[in-house]
Amino acid sequence: MEKTGMMLDVREVLVSSEEIQDKVRELGERITRDYRDEKPLLVGILNGSVVVLSDLMRHIDLPCEIAFMAVSSYGAGTTTSGVVRILKDLDRDITGRHVLIVEDIVDTGLTLSHLRRSLLSRGAETLEVCALLSKPSRREVDLEIKYLGFEVPDEFVVGYGIDYAGSYRNLPDVCVLKPEVFEKDTGPPG
Ligand code: 5GP
Repeated sequence: MEKTGMMLDVREVLVSSEEIQDKVRELGERITRDYRDEKPLLVGILNGSVVVLSDLMRHIDLPCEIAFMAVSSYGAGTTTSGVVRILKDLDRDITGRHVLIVEDIVDTGLTLSHLRRSLLSRGAETLEVCALLSKPSRREVDLEIKYLGFEVPDEFVVGYGIDYAGSYRNLPDVCVLKPEVFEKDTGPPG
């Protein structure tokens, strides 16, 4: 089929929208079983997690709440401390709550391991991670991702919530862009 629109910038579809939808349904069903009789709080990390969070929550057949945080890492590549700056904090107390962090992609794992410690120190009863994607070859810290969608190779990906320079979040598939898309810059970030 001939490519049109944003797909003209795509070199390769790594995970198709059908595969994502099947996996997100399966994760939602597992979460429903694991949290039965509880009211989990899904914490989405902005902006990348909004697409996966909104699909995932519709497959969780339990009363659940959502909340959001935004973070930025201190100068990627210049630190291994894993300290992240909180740009937008949670709007509620999480003492005693069953918190499930929802993230788009785990790379070094530094962002999530910092967030995990931070949320546990606020008294969350349990804290687990759900991530659509993981790049295991890039991991710098040990981090359990209890609910994982897909492992991907060390390539810069976009789509299904994940951006390049603010764009491509609305692609339904997870994709790798053509090199010429980055040519005006210095190459893919990261
Ligand atoms: P970590 O702290 O695990 O190294 O960083 C995770 C964050 O890096 C993700 O939430 C995402 O914002 C960014 N990231 C990692 N890999 C990619 C990628 O392939 N594409 C994009 N757009 N962002 C990525």
